[in-house]
Amino acid sequence: MKRVDHVGFSEKFIADEKHIKFHDKRLWDLRSSRDVEVHGIPEWEELRRLASGIKEHTLTHLADYLEQFERNATANGVVVHWAKDAEEHNRIVHEILSARNATVLVKSKSMLTEECEMRPYLEERGIAVVETDLGEQIQQLDDQLPSHIVVPAVHKLATDVAKTFSKTMGTDPNESRIPVLCEAQRQRTRPLILNAHAGMTGCNFAVAETGGITVCTNEGNADLSANVPSLHIASIGIEKLIPKLEHLGVFIRMLSRNALGSPITQYTSHFRGPRKGGEMHFILVDNGRSERLGMEDFWYSLKCIRCGACMNTCPVYRRSSGLSYGGVYSGPIGAIINPTFDLKKYSSLPFASTMNGSCTNVCPVKINIHEQIYKWRQIIAEKNELPFIKKESMKIAGKVLANPKLYRAAIKAADAAVAKLPRVVLYNPLNEWGKKREVPEAPKETFHEWYAKRKKK
Ligand code: SF4
Repeated sequence: MKRVDHVGFSEKFIADEKHIKFHDKRLWDLRSSRDVEVHGIPEWEELRRLASGIKEHTLTHLADYLEQFERNATANGVVVHWAKDAEEHNRIVHEILSARNATVLVKSKSMLTEECEMRPYLEERGIAVVETDLGEQIQQLDDQLPSHIVVPAVHKLATDVAKTFSKTMGTDPNESRIPVLCEAQRQRTRPLILNAHAGMTGCNFAVAETGGITVCTNEGNADLSANVPSLHIASIGIEKLIPKLEHLGVFIRMLSRNALGSPITQYTSHFRGPRKGGEMHFILVDNGRSERLGMEDFWYSLKCIRCGACMNTCPVYRRSSGLSYGGVYSGPIGAIINPTFDLKKYSSLPFASTMNGSCTNVCPVKINIHEQIYKWRQIIAEKNELPFIKKESMKIAGKVLANPKLYRAAIKAADAAVAKLPRVVLYNPLNEWGKKREVPEAPKETFHEWYAKRKKK
């Protein structure tokens, strides 16, 4: 599989000044609102410890909790299916739909169904799939992956959406007022929901004790998808389990505060059984999760509650956008999850990080994201998956940094070169750094020179 060209994709995004400024600001605003909310909860760190502990306990007893969940859900009248991978998940969904002659499926946002590439699978088999989340529908109409796990079309300006809607819905391409665009989407989607044969949701939390699931949305579209058609299918990653109903409070208090800086999602809906005369199916999906659970350095990533805060805070993500990561999951969480699916394809992603640790600091379930990124870098180097230039330059850097005399000589030579060499020698197509940056003027003396002088005095 070809390596994702994160730098190349980012370059395209960065070249567009208007988009990059908007994207950076929009996500930093989310991060700032998150800080305000979090600082209003004095026991925030206690909540993080609890959330992390609950997730670690569940993951280390996962088989037991999954069986308990299945027993309780079945007792509630839900049909529970198990899917070992994406292919099996898609096949199960198709079988449920085709057995009932269902040809229109409305669904709310679910990263798991994106991961399984379910939409194209069903569409190839004659089933129309309608994304009902506004951002996700914009991405569907543009045939793009979500660029963020909470706000899927965050990289787009309202003017971009106006163009997409005009091409696909026949609206005015110059009308980019947000309420008007939302109304257009609403008018298009409502009849589809009302006439759909089946509805689908993802799942934020699956409670073993009750056999019920909780879905959090801000648009109410999950509730419409689940409740209007009489058939509801929910796709559930097996890591979404929590043991008890009382644990929900910990996560619900954190999720929206950390994601969007709002105290709670508009709709926190609980589904426990089919309505009278209806059907409810839960599909428990593994798709590589059991394998990840067995990875000593990476199993903590299964604690993720998909709040997106690590993306909002990441300076690389904010400036390169989610689509540059070339996978379903982007940003810091994508950099640690995607390589578990395909190391070669996603080997550039762990290098898309400044390693500032901000992702780890904001993570509500205390995932050691930057440490996992560092670990992936080591594995990628050991497995010889680094591009040639990076590999060779790292070798030279390693030698220089490991030898203080060589390091000081290199610094002196670099200072002299920056001061004296003609500009074209430093800023040319071979120098990636010089493309977007000016090398700062060197100080008159280095710290070591200053320190040595001071010591002598
Ligand atoms: S890794 Fe942590 S911060 Fe990032 S999306 Fe998951 S829970 Fe949120």
